[in-house]
Amino acid sequence: MPVAILTDIHANLPALDAVLAAIDEAGLERRWCLGDVVGYGAQPDECAKLVSERCELSLVGNHDLAVTGEISTEVFSASAGAAVEWTRQNSDQSTIDFLKSLKAENTDHEVGLYHASPRDPVWEYVLAIDQARECMDAQSARVSLIGHSHVALWFSDGPGLPGSDGGGQAEDGRELDISEHRWLLNPGSVGQPRDGDPRAAWLELDTDAWKATYHRVEYDIDRAAEAIREANLPELLADRLYVGQ
Ligand code: ZN
Repeated sequence: MPVAILTDIHANLPALDAVLAAIDEAGLERRWCLGDVVGYGAQPDECAKLVSERCELSLVGNHDLAVTGEISTEVFSASAGAAVEWTRQNSDQSTIDFLKSLKAENTDHEVGLYHASPRDPVWEYVLAIDQARECMDAQSARVSLIGHSHVALWFSDGPGLPGSDGGGQAEDGRELDISEHRWLLNPGSVGQPRDGDPRAAWLELDTDAWKATYHRVEYDIDRAAEAIREANLPELLADRLYVGQ
């Protein structure tokens, strides 16, 4: 069944709108969100409402949990901590209630869903191949989906792609045959990409054909950056959107 995977929206409404439109255009009717709906960006209520209405399921991420007070912001960077504080003060109770209702993992489906990693669904950044192999040992399903690093990535314990070492970054349009071996896939971030491509990221997953396709979509970065500046959130959070870092 085809499903659109989106993650790390981070209260960036223009990016979320663009991704949802692209998913509609692709004719996909199911959407799963891997968490971090809020934090960094200036439109948490709008994003939480859209995710709750349009996504069949959503996980909770570390920024969401910091906003609801379930985890501390001690290890957050200064700008991330400031954004958590701003989000706490500027979110509707309905947003907080929605985030509080979510879990950081979901293993009820034929693919495993985790915000960060199969062995640490809240915190672990999976960026290296050896580390990804250990994570694949910890996953219950053959294929798992993760977010958190904001980098569009794939890892496999099979041959993977020609010339690769079992993992790598996934560019716009990259298709993977995931019908054999174990896989760990990260769509990249909707609202704050950090892989050098500032476009919003999402992943098309087909669990009948066992195919995964990475997508990037342009969005109105000026609008998202302006909202961040108007909210008096740290300037850096607006600037980084333009470079995708
Ligand atoms: Zn995130």
